[in-house]
Amino acid sequence: MKVTLAKSAGFCFGVKRAVDMVYEQIEDAKEGPIYTYGPIIHNEEVVKELAEKGVRVIAEDEDLHGLEPGTVIIRSHGVGRKVKEDLENAGFTIVDATCPFVQKIHRYVAKYAEEGYFVLIVGSESHPEVQGIVGWMPNDSYAVISTPQDLEDLALAGEKICIVSQTTFNYNKFQELVEIIRKKGYDILVLNTICNATEERQSEAATIARDVDAMIVIGGKHSSNTQKLFEICKKECQDTYYIQTKEDLDLSVLQSISNVGITAGASTPNKIIEEVQKICQK
Ligand code: SF4
Repeated sequence: MKVTLAKSAGFCFGVKRAVDMVYEQIEDAKEGPIYTYGPIIHNEEVVKELAEKGVRVIAEDEDLHGLEPGTVIIRSHGVGRKVKEDLENAGFTIVDATCPFVQKIHRYVAKYAEEGYFVLIVGSESHPEVQGIVGWMPNDSYAVISTPQDLEDLALAGEKICIVSQTTFNYNKFQELVEIIRKKGYDILVLNTICNATEERQSEAATIARDVDAMIVIGGKHSSNTQKLFEICKKECQDTYYIQTKEDLDLSVLQSISNVGITAGASTPNKIIEEVQKICQK
């Protein structure tokens, strides 16, 4: 059987880098325990495997002074400046796995706020990445918005405005908000900080699904980006299957086809993707 595996299946660059950094720490085995600040990734299997290797997850509201000092890995979403300082002051060694694309936003907001801009952060206020970005603001001259209504509620008269975005925000919605602000005649500096990893994964999946007899989408059943991938593939290929691991594969389906495509959500480990690929190639 011909098997086409999407190049963009699974972890994006930033998540892969963060997970690799945790494994490097385990191998280095320095003194003291290893922690991640929040789950390194939203995948139970990975977090469980790391827990078995002794890696503990620190909860956001946890009393740091009650923990044995060790190494803390900051995940790809990043954290605010104060969180980093608190960890350092509590005696932890920090390994910063913040995605470089997110770090760039931290630098932008700090720089432009210092230069007197009002910073508009387009994104979801409750998302850890956005909370981390806010945590690099040196003053209170900012707002987090995600809808045109949020803009209506803001008083921005006479401001120079710098606009950044959460990396996973929808590009069209971002543009829509930028246009509304532009039309109001403000002096604006637009920094499009949206990462195209998600979009690339989706468009590659659609291209593959169009050409195959059956398409397999791998990911956790609660993963919203995997559900979205499934919908996109299903539109292009009626025989699209959503599985979590190789155990969910229906082998009788595979016997009757000659050309299968595989993609996977952003939090699906390579190991699971490879296992599925091997079965299909048999
Ligand atoms: S910014 Fe892009 S590459 Fe970095 S973690 Fe987010 S989705 Fe992945």
